[in-house]
Amino acid sequence: MQALTNRVKVVERKPMTFMERTYLPGIFKGMMITFGHMFKKKPTVNYPEKTRPFSAVFRGLHVLNRDEEGRERCTACGLCAVACPAEAITMEAAERLPGEEKLYREEKYAVKYEINMLRCIFCGLCEEACPKDAIYLSETFAPSNFTRKGFIYGKEELLIPDPVMEPEAYAKARGEHVVKTSDPAAK
Ligand code: SF4
Ligand code: SF4
Repeated sequence: MQALTNRVKVVERKPMTFMERTYLPGIFKGMMITFGHMFKKKPTVNYPEKTRPFSAVFRGLHVLNRDEEGRERCTACGLCAVACPAEAITMEAAERLPGEEKLYREEKYAVKYEINMLRCIFCGLCEEACPKDAIYLSETFAPSNFTRKGFIYGKEELLIPDPVMEPEAYAKARGEHVVKTSDPAAK
């Protein structure tokens, strides 16, 4: 056969030894590699039975917070919506009526509060902006959904359980979060 270039190299096929023809050395080598992995630390976890610990700076799903008496902290000031770079937060304010003091801590509250999780980039600026410790990003994920509407979270999804009525659910939802605002009224 005529070569097209001068880079042709004739490869010499080395005949296999008797041991190589039995494939035993190759099989043994492979088994040793498998055996060695049995004593190494597993990089996988049995999710969802086991979960990895979150990073200290992890920012997950938002929670609308209550105070220790179970009253909603949010005063519908709109600072979180202004701070949000993704314009993901919308709300409607309402005035607290006589007799509603046990429901809402401030005289004004959010009758409607929505976050569009498809817009949200989980930057945490809403939490930073809030003067009332009324919103924070928790250590849970936003679950998947089949519709766009399912990613618009309202107060029903965001509001933390009542610490007086459901203390266990409240503690679980709150997790490791601590009040870090400098406003003494928010504590
Ligand atoms: S985490 Fe960031 S993007 Fe998401 S709602 Fe808060 S401010 Fe907006
Ligand atoms: S969550 Fe905080 S910043 Fe946002 S409207 Fe309520 S009180 Fe204001």
